[in-house]
Amino acid sequence: MQYHLNGYTSGDPAIHSDQSDATDTLPETVDVLIVGCGPTGLTLAAYLAQFPDITTCIVDQKSGPLEVGQADGIACRTIEMFQAFGFAEKVVKEAYWVNETCFWKPDPDAPQNITHTNTIKDTEDGLSEFPHVILNQARVHDFYLEVMRNGAASVQPVYSQQLEDVVGNTATFAHTQTGTRKTVTAKYIIGCEGARSTVRKSIGRRLQGDSANKGWGVMDILAVTDFPDIRRKAVVQSASEGSILIIPREGGYMVRMYIELEKLPKGERVSGQNVTVDQLIAAAQRILHPHKLDVKDVVWWSVYDIGQRLCDRFDNGNKDSDPTVFIAGDSCHTHSPKAGQGMNVSMGDAFNLGWKLAGVLRGTYAPEILNTYSQERQTVAQELIDFDREFARQFSAPVKSDRNPDGVDPQELERTFIQTGRFTAGTAIRYYSSDVCGDEAHQELATGFPVGMRFHSAPVIRFSDGKPMHLGHTVVADGRWRIFAFADRENVKLNRLCDWLGTDPHAPIQTYTPKGADSDSAIDLRAIYQSGDLTAEGIPPILMPSKGRFGLTDYEKIFCADHDNDIFDLRGIDRTSGCMVVVRPDQYVAHVLPLDDHAGLSAFFDRFMRRPTVD
Ligand code: FAD
Repeated sequence: MQYHLNGYTSGDPAIHSDQSDATDTLPETVDVLIVGCGPTGLTLAAYLAQFPDITTCIVDQKSGPLEVGQADGIACRTIEMFQAFGFAEKVVKEAYWVNETCFWKPDPDAPQNITHTNTIKDTEDGLSEFPHVILNQARVHDFYLEVMRNGAASVQPVYSQQLEDVVGNTATFAHTQTGTRKTVTAKYIIGCEGARSTVRKSIGRRLQGDSANKGWGVMDILAVTDFPDIRRKAVVQSASEGSILIIPREGGYMVRMYIELEKLPKGERVSGQNVTVDQLIAAAQRILHPHKLDVKDVVWWSVYDIGQRLCDRFDNGNKDSDPTVFIAGDSCHTHSPKAGQGMNVSMGDAFNLGWKLAGVLRGTYAPEILNTYSQERQTVAQELIDFDREFARQFSAPVKSDRNPDGVDPQELERTFIQTGRFTAGTAIRYYSSDVCGDEAHQELATGFPVGMRFHSAPVIRFSDGKPMHLGHTVVADGRWRIFAFADRENVKLNRLCDWLGTDPHAPIQTYTPKGADSDSAIDLRAIYQSGDLTAEGIPPILMPSKGRFGLTDYEKIFCADHDNDIFDLRGIDRTSGCMVVVRPDQYVAHVLPLDDHAGLSAFFDRFMRRPTVD
């Protein structure tokens, strides 16, 4: 984290604003209106709060923040995103870490009992620098609310306002206690109000797919039990009493149980079934037989329907006009809880949209870039739903036996679980070639940074102070692009690239940096050398730029490989010729290019960036 650039300031360096007081007043006009303070809306608001020149209003019908319940699984990839917002460490410290998953099935010798079959690592080694964790969704909301409040634009939610209607770019709200109606007109409206989205209906989109005729009970409990894997994630399939998924929770005592309910008749919803928590407890006790489960306290419980459903498009754009109204999260796709995707994919939508919206509003990108949000995220949601459907089918199917020859062999479920680990970790997501994502023509120069996939961080040493750190952690949620220039063996091509980027008026850093702004304000160049055998004289000036009102030197652009854990080896980087890895503001690899492909780099940024307007 860098601070004090424009003079010393006391206090918490994460606070960038005079924090605005909480408000219950809706503005008449705003740049961005976000409806819904779930994880999707809060991720987007946290992103936009970083820009003092963008006005954002986020609204919810609830009277205050979420306090308990709902989703709890946080994938490795999501924590990488939290790192960009600065609260990954807090989550990791507070959460339960899912290191192992165990499988239980009917005992072949006594099928009325369950027996342990296997325990596997939950996440493959080296997949991410962060673990897969479990933490109450309400805590994730708390962290986002803090980022929003502390952001340069200090955004606070407006509660107790229910969206009634959206016409064009004007939304009508009714106060939930007084009934008073107000309208807000916005340049962009984002519907993050969950599966029953009013914004979605207003733009004529529909969720399509499996109707919700499978119900699940979920309860967070404090219990005394002799089930030995109560502090491990456990998939338990009984012979005839159904299945249960056990998720230990943060704090060491609380446990979440997902219990499958009977398949519902077509058109019926689980909320109409009058399921009680006592029924859920009784079902859990039957499934876990012969083990005892003595529930002492139910912290939260709910029943909800699953249906893997999806909209065909996530905005109101068409062939004649760029989109101005968007939907994100559960508003446009829903998932079963088994694969733990709902909250994670939803936040990923917002992270994808945030930098694009910010850039268009600030004049950095052409508005057409906004079409890539639906293109990219609709495809991701479709792929995840296909995966989720198979995962949920196997989880719900009866155990294969003489009586159920079409059932699922527990070993098949185990195999699926292992094979699909990257999906559940969120690291399998890939964006395809578009205006903001290049092709794979030079992929062989950096095989471990696949174009279109998230930048898989690796350790490096910062040259100026010898600090060991993760290179990916330099990509924070600030809307900037990064060029990671991995040096060639002799540093010759790297030096030429730096000279060109630093001096040629046609180079993207020169073209797209606003007049008078720091040279890294639009595109942030960082170099990674193969060894630390460098002298300050040999370093190109653009890697030690003068910044801020005092012209202070930024010493944090230069890194060296850590010889015990060499990033060149770990990520398959060509040591002879080096390469450029271009990384988007949402941490995805947009391009891999040869160090001397200056024209290719310019052509890529020219596709979507706009020259700053000169005053
Ligand atoms: P939501 O979290 O649904 O947030 C939408 C927000 O919009 C809410 O705060 C709502 O009050 C607000 N809103 C809605 N309509 C309006 C309106 N007209 N005007 C103003 N505000 C409005 N996922 C799991 O993985 N595991 C679980 O165990 C699990 N349990 C769940 C239990 C429940 C009861 C629910 C509702 C969801 C559960 N989910 C679970 C799903 C998971 O929580 C969602 O995938 C995730 O929260 C999606 O985030 P979102 O922000 O898109 O929508």
